[in-house]
Amino acid sequence: MIQTGIVWFKTDLRIADNETLIKAIAQCEKVICVYCFDEAHYADTSYGFKKTGNYKTQFLIEALKDLDKSLRAIGSGLLVVKGKPEVEIPKIFKEYKAYKVFAKREVAYEEKQTEKLVQQQLFQVRCEFETFSTSTLYHAEDLPFSITNIPDLFTNFRKQTEKESTIRKPFEKPKTLVSPQMPLLELPTVKELGLKNVKKDSRAVLVYKGGETEALKRLHHYFSDSKSLSTYKETRNGMIGADYSSKFSAWLAIGCISSRYIYEEIKKYEKKFGTNDSTYWLTFELLWRDFFRFMFKKHQTKFFLYSGIKSEKANSKSLNKKLLTQWINGQTDSDFINANMIELKLTGFMSNRGRQNVASYFCNELNMDWRYGAAYFESQLIDYDVCSNWGNWAYLAGVGNDGRDQRYFNIAKQANDYDKKMEFRELWLK
Ligand code: FAD
Repeated sequence: MIQTGIVWFKTDLRIADNETLIKAIAQCEKVICVYCFDEAHYADTSYGFKKTGNYKTQFLIEALKDLDKSLRAIGSGLLVVKGKPEVEIPKIFKEYKAYKVFAKREVAYEEKQTEKLVQQQLFQVRCEFETFSTSTLYHAEDLPFSITNIPDLFTNFRKQTEKESTIRKPFEKPKTLVSPQMPLLELPTVKELGLKNVKKDSRAVLVYKGGETEALKRLHHYFSDSKSLSTYKETRNGMIGADYSSKFSAWLAIGCISSRYIYEEIKKYEKKFGTNDSTYWLTFELLWRDFFRFMFKKHQTKFFLYSGIKSEKANSKSLNKKLLTQWINGQTDSDFINANMIELKLTGFMSNRGRQNVASYFCNELNMDWRYGAAYFESQLIDYDVCSNWGNWAYLAGVGNDGRDQRYFNIAKQANDYDKKMEFRELWLK
């Protein structure tokens, strides 16, 4: 057994079903849990937006508080640092005379680059570094294809995976954790990270609060209390209120809950209340989430190119700043688009139906470089997730995993189909 190990938490802010933490506890006498506020996450992107906005940051701070509480309950605490992970993680390694760093394995380009830099720095000081795949429903090693052969069409991926693979059981919560005395938790505020404080809007679909405890509360509400899971397939295209869809995305994005844990709870729910199309459909949607992760592993940087994963090179469209600002502020010629964009601006959330429409409008009606839209979502969404966001945007821009060349939404028809009584528009435009 090695003496001291470090668990570097990133977007896996939970103690249940966290293989990284479990493996560290099994291999080390003492474990130090660390989170690093990566300064690069609070800079502006090349598209002119903050990489991380205030909704997500507020949610993250709450999640870290909760993680510290859970870790203290089993004997440790969370050490929070700020800077470049490749500088800060080796510093902690030296300070605590550790032997090994354990972390979540990344798939997207920038995250992978940071992971590599940390690994290189640790290698120089002879520190071991091991990563674990902890964010998908299906483990990458259990897929029926090699990463390079994963089908680019979701249906083909889903059918074969469902038929030939199994979902691993989630890991139990650790009961104890031995560590040196950890200092009291010190967290930066949203303002200290260079962002504006979040203002609550009473029209928001949900009062979001970060953390594993809140994620579990939400799951119990959606499953046991309201039994909304049994009607999910019929309600999931809604736009108003808490229960038309699960709202798990924000917690999933920073790993306050794992999709394997949700899957286990779906199975328990089905035993108790019965199986139907809706109970299956939530797993179906979680598979979309997996799919984009595996697509990022396969195509890597391509999802950030104007031509996406398509082989033909297209010239990117120019940017019309006025149109971009009007879209962001909900001042376009479509009231349906405006209502959705205002909801996003004031709450950090937008329904899936809304996201599809505003993205299609951006690409097809405004005819602009889709990456500006994706970058605005990146900074604004409370549930921003690199693979789900850029993967869905590329899909809607016709340069991703869609069999069709162009996915065009007739916005007026969509508004009429999904907001027939104009309730959603009245809620946000009044
Ligand atoms: P539910 O309908 O309850 O679905 C359950 C879970 O399944 C979600 O929490 C999510 O993890 C997953 N899921 C559902 N639909 C998708 C999908 N199309 N792609 C990937 N996963 C899915 N989702 C994010 O989590 N982060 C993003 O940054 C993000 N950006 C998006 C950008 C665009 C342009 C579009 C069209 C979709 C985007 N999505 C993103 C996917 C989807 O809109 C949200 O996951 C969903 O609206 C969140 O609400 P929910 O948790 O209530 O979803």
